[in-house]
Amino acid sequence: MPSEGLRKTVAAVVCVAVCGFLAAAVTANDLATRAKKLHFSCIVVDTHDDTTQRFLDGKFDLGPRNSAGSIDIPRMREGGLGAIFFSIWMPSKITGPEAVDRALVQIDAIREQVRKHPADLMLATTAAEVREAHKQGKIAALMGVEGGHMINSSLPVLRTYAALGVRYMTLTHSGNDEWADSSTDKPVHNGLTEFGKDVVREMNRLGMMVDISHVSDKTFYDALEVSKAPLLASHSSCRAICDAPRNMTDQMMKDLAAKGGVIQINYHVGFLSQEFRNAEKSNPELEKAIADEVRNRCGESEGCQLIEGDRITREYVEKGQLPRVSFEKIIEHIDHAVKVAGIEHVGLGSDFDGANMPYGMEDATKLPAVTEALLQKGYSEGDVRKILGENTLRLMADVQRVSHELNAAAPK
Ligand SMILES: [Zn+2]
Repeated sequence: MPSEGLRKTVAAVVCVAVCGFLAAAVTANDLATRAKKLHFSCIVVDTHDDTTQRFLDGKFDLGPRNSAGSIDIPRMREGGLGAIFFSIWMPSKITGPEAVDRALVQIDAIREQVRKHPADLMLATTAAEVREAHKQGKIAALMGVEGGHMINSSLPVLRTYAALGVRYMTLTHSGNDEWADSSTDKPVHNGLTEFGKDVVREMNRLGMMVDISHVSDKTFYDALEVSKAPLLASHSSCRAICDAPRNMTDQMMKDLAAKGGVIQINYHVGFLSQEFRNAEKSNPELEKAIADEVRNRCGESEGCQLIEGDRITREYVEKGQLPRVSFEKIIEHIDHAVKVAGIEHVGLGSDFDGANMPYGMEDATKLPAVTEALLQKGYSEGDVRKILGENTLRLMADVQRVSHELNAAAPK
């Protein structure tokens, strides 16, 4: 039999352990409740999503819950995603009239999804329309063209996209186009050509956001100088944390912010984690094996390729052949960008259905984790609200205001 004193000591120790655990559990629970409440009261905006590719094979629909990919209506609702920019994308090597045709088909496919789901989706082209969709309990669907190669060097084509509702254009994709250099190609234009600068001016007038994700550093600075409206980086992360040419340096983020722009953090593991990037780079055979496997499973279907690329990469992570990246890396990039560029200049640009997602951010249902992690880090509710969407909505309104001013000043 233990002595009375010993029993009391044991009881005290047990109480401290259990009570401490309970207190921690209650605090964690409080935070989760607070985060959930905050998250679902915000307009959460995602400025880059590649699901459009899946619409093209004619079988995929946003209506039912899907087990593959990251985006559909039920999962957007579950994750509290309020506005999503669907990307109009094709590889940079597709140019000329074919690129225009294919872009128009994608714009139509997005508009058709909206038409088929009127109770859930609303096409939006302005911040006010996004707010209206939110008020009506609908998800705002927006459009962005990802690559200047799709205008076939034609301002009339650019204007047509704007008229159909496209509200940003990424000046290049992975390859240079006819008038701008990409960050992942050999420079040939020294940034923007004279025509490239005209494209930026016309985008300003049309109220299309000038998107500098994917472009070379020189193209970014040319666009920053020419543009009368603040710029968008629709899906880029921080080069100081992960040294990818697609990411922005601290100086670029400061300069973007000084002119009112917003950087939307990309969730792709190869842009979030230096460790992942190094592992990929040091093992080109692995990259080739993944590419071969993707082709085996998908043939030429780009929608399938994007989804399977993510799935197969995850299989290599599970086998221990690539490092595991957690969604907390997204928070690290957000926090860094806020410290460098300021709280008004950071948002979210997932790259869902077009990239390799980290653990804990597999699909749109996981978005409340961002809110919880930011609160946990000490961000105020107002600041979280800005990062989740208000900064992007403010940028959209600023770009629209500049458009109105330019149109008012233009000769009749
Ligand atoms: Zn991209």
